[in-house]
Amino acid sequence: MISARLRREIRSLYGACCGYCGVCEEDVGSALTLDHFQPVASQGQDTRENLVYCCFACNAFKGDYWPDDPNLRLESDGYLTALTPAGERQIHLLHLNRPPLIRQRFRAQERRLERRTHQELRRELEQMEHRLQRLERLFPFDDEGESSL
Ligand SMILES: [Zn+2]
Repeated sequence: MISARLRREIRSLYGACCGYCGVCEEDVGSALTLDHFQPVASQGQDTRENLVYCCFACNAFKGDYWPDDPNLRLESDGYLTALTPAGERQIHLLHLNRPPLIRQRFRAQERRLERRTHQELRRELEQMEHRLQRLERLFPFDDEGESSL
């Protein structure tokens, strides 16, 4: 029996996202499940080390796919390409190219790109503000908004 406290710990450990495919609670609109990495049937324990926060689909298809798997390449459209026969088996067994997952990976990549762009723009804005402050010190304006020089 997994305690509510352990469940909360695992959920926060995985950032409320599936440890196998990366789909998040906000993507599926509900809490995810807990998966025994080593199955209970094979003496897997209810421990933090053996529990994975996991979406329903991955729990049903069960496997060992990790998002940064060297057997797989994530394409810009969210599609996973197998780089090895092992990667092909993973995609097939876990149905990793089912449309909701492709959409989810695509959206996640877009969000990362948006965050990066946002950070770059903020840095540029800060630099411009610094430049403006320097200019204002060099060329002070009076209350009428005209240069006093
Ligand atoms: Zn999943």
